[in-house]
Amino acid sequence: MARSEGASGGDEELLSKPYVRLARFWEPVPGKPGYVRCNLCHRRCIIAPGRYGVCGVRKNINGKLYVLVYGLLTAMNLDPIEKKPLMHFYPGSEVLSISTVGCNFFCLFCQNWEISQSRLEKGLYGTYKTPEEVVETALKYKADGITYTYNEPTIFYEFMYDTARLAKKYGLFNTMVTNGYMTPEAVKELGPYMDAATVDFKGGGNKEFYRRYIGVPDPEPIFETLLAMRDAGWWLEITNLVVPQVGDKEDDIRRLARWIVENLGDETPFHLLRFHPDYKMRNLPPTPVSTLEKLARIAREEGLKYVYIGNVWGHPLENTYCPRCGYPVIERQGFFITAWRLTKDNRCPRCGYKINIRGEYRGRGRRWGLLI
Ligand code: SF4
Repeated sequence: MARSEGASGGDEELLSKPYVRLARFWEPVPGKPGYVRCNLCHRRCIIAPGRYGVCGVRKNINGKLYVLVYGLLTAMNLDPIEKKPLMHFYPGSEVLSISTVGCNFFCLFCQNWEISQSRLEKGLYGTYKTPEEVVETALKYKADGITYTYNEPTIFYEFMYDTARLAKKYGLFNTMVTNGYMTPEAVKELGPYMDAATVDFKGGGNKEFYRRYIGVPDPEPIFETLLAMRDAGWWLEITNLVVPQVGDKEDDIRRLARWIVENLGDETPFHLLRFHPDYKMRNLPPTPVSTLEKLARIAREEGLKYVYIGNVWGHPLENTYCPRCGYPVIERQGFFITAWRLTKDNRCPRCGYKINIRGEYRGRGRRWGLLI
């Protein structure tokens, strides 16, 4: 375990913990002795000695940056992959989902605010696990892969990286659910070990929405990160949380859908997610289904072939329809596949159109439960 000379008593104790590790992607700041710049996410925090980055889980101790949540897990669950949502990546598979505390965003409507934001009130907590223990658990429960999710996995990058590397050796795939704010250099290093990502937009990627409701000055760097993920060969599905009244503009969806078509391709799955009042935004109602349907039409008009509506159990846009003939080739209810009609090579059985899917249908995804 690394130790720093001259650290305070509290820091000395911190440095002795197994979940405190030297961070990656930081550098000293020229002309500012003891200061560091973290380059893990686009915030690129400049952190004074003894202070934390915006995410609250990275601390400058004597001029070095440490991550304080390495393997400090707040959840380890079995989930159907459709819950991420990933609809076109190993459909019907099961993943072991893990998280820590902390986040680099401050969404006022966060559904997982107890773990993403509670560090401010409760401090750091969790159950310490090694990458070996996580991979062993995944194998024991016969999961198909591991997903880094619930809070923003960028902020526990080092643990994700080590676990993903090990998981690959045992034939497991890795996926992450992310706000897309990781820097391209961090994506590049993770590249060979990550297989897929769900990248979550909110409010259509509107700049004012990000400023006001998320505490992020500019969502534009997310697009740069998406290109890095594409170049790394990851499978990508894009979600967008539609917040009624303040984050449901048609023009924003048009712009986002057009960007996806032009840069990731028209076969990229796109999910419009229903907002539910939570955390500090309990004053708004759930998104009207008619708004989601209108925005889905707009996304299709822009050329996207697979547009889904999420968080509306039993809605027809939970299904996959053949883009050529409209036949419902995969039917779902919530996170579960209820009918699979594709041929062995993923073609529409009616017209032969090849549906864009990575990995084979696993036909599982029935278990759903907490392990820690
Ligand atoms: S990961 Fe945390 S410390 Fe690093 S730049 Fe992002 S918010 Fe700042």
